[in-house]
Amino acid sequence: MIYLDYNATTPLDERVLQKMIPYLKDIYSNPSSVYRFAQESKRAVEDARAQVADLISANPTEVFFTSGGTESDNTAIKGICSQHQNRGKHIIISKIEHHAILHPVEFLEKNGFKATYLDVDEFGIIDLKQLSESITKNTVLVSVMYGNNEVGTIQPIKKIAAFCRSKEVYFHTDAVQAVGKLKLNVKELGVDLLSISAHKFYGPKGVGALYVKKGVKLWPLLHGGGHERGLRSGTENVAGIAGLGEAARLAKIELPEEEVRIKKLRDRLQKGILKSISEVKLNGHPEQRLANTLNICIKYIEGESILINLDFEGICASSGSACTSGSLEPSHVLLAMGMPHEIAHGSLRFSLGKYTSDKDIDKVLEVLPPIVERLRKISPFWQKKK
Ligand SMILES: *Cc1c(COP(=O)(O)O)cnc(C)c1O
Repeated sequence: MIYLDYNATTPLDERVLQKMIPYLKDIYSNPSSVYRFAQESKRAVEDARAQVADLISANPTEVFFTSGGTESDNTAIKGICSQHQNRGKHIIISKIEHHAILHPVEFLEKNGFKATYLDVDEFGIIDLKQLSESITKNTVLVSVMYGNNEVGTIQPIKKIAAFCRSKEVYFHTDAVQAVGKLKLNVKELGVDLLSISAHKFYGPKGVGALYVKKGVKLWPLLHGGGHERGLRSGTENVAGIAGLGEAARLAKIELPEEEVRIKKLRDRLQKGILKSISEVKLNGHPEQRLANTLNICIKYIEGESILINLDFEGICASSGSACTSGSLEPSHVLLAMGMPHEIAHGSLRFSLGKYTSDKDIDKVLEVLPPIVERLRKISPFWQKKK
């Protein structure tokens, strides 16, 4: 099998698994208990907090564990808007956010909040001028994702954060696709809140973190025993958190070299496809893009048909986001970038990772052109065009 869907999820690093096993077996104590046996679990959680903080250059007290990217995003959006609703009920996000941002915002809209959705240009980058024109005295929160999961476009986060700070508006970024893939420093970026998910960088599924800058107050989603200093009640997922910590530690060490290696492979795949197949369009920003992501439109055929044929060859890829594929709706990200419906249907996403090899890329470049040729032969759109 050739796995090229790392933006959907990544395999667990073997070293992460080894780190987790003791907490699934022998060290089962509840970190909140008082005896020494509990201190072992407690220490695992606090070590992991320090490791996650280290990866993003935060203070450990600014890192809160959650059940993943979706919960971190929901906590940031609903938590800030609820806490500060007396200041105003307006929120600004981009049109290309993940559903874990879009849907909580829709929920808030049904509950009396107003939302502004920022446009993006053809490369998927927001317009800072439109952002500045959209902020009113009622605006509480701006949320713009760091790296897009479908096309990989990276936003000017530092500029957006500086602008929000000057207007005294909170700024959150969904950095689920960025953390562990590129070097990132929350202090330099100047963000107030930032979402992280372990399973996007070789950690386990169902665990993540939310960075909350010191002094920023927000309501919790879950009320209960007051864990995570009241922001996230519920007995800690100790094994998962230990896994997230180890994934963060490994990313910090290995990321710089991996990013370069993966980008080389991605660029070779991109060049090879553009050379061997006609009428292919690159989606996303040519430069400001996650090093592992390649999203293309192969015109006149359906992305889904290509995926099925790639699957027969043992290749796992995607037609956009894992959540929307299967629905046969064209991607909201590509539509926001101005792509016509019929072309957006032909989109294909390859996302690479640390177990991707040169041989994997060779194989895709060998099997994809004949698949496209076969499908185009039977495509009425291709016939009409010729
Ligand atoms: C995967 C993803 C999420 C959701 O994270 P989960 O841990 O799967 O809940 C949120 N935002 C982005 C950009 C993602 O890629």
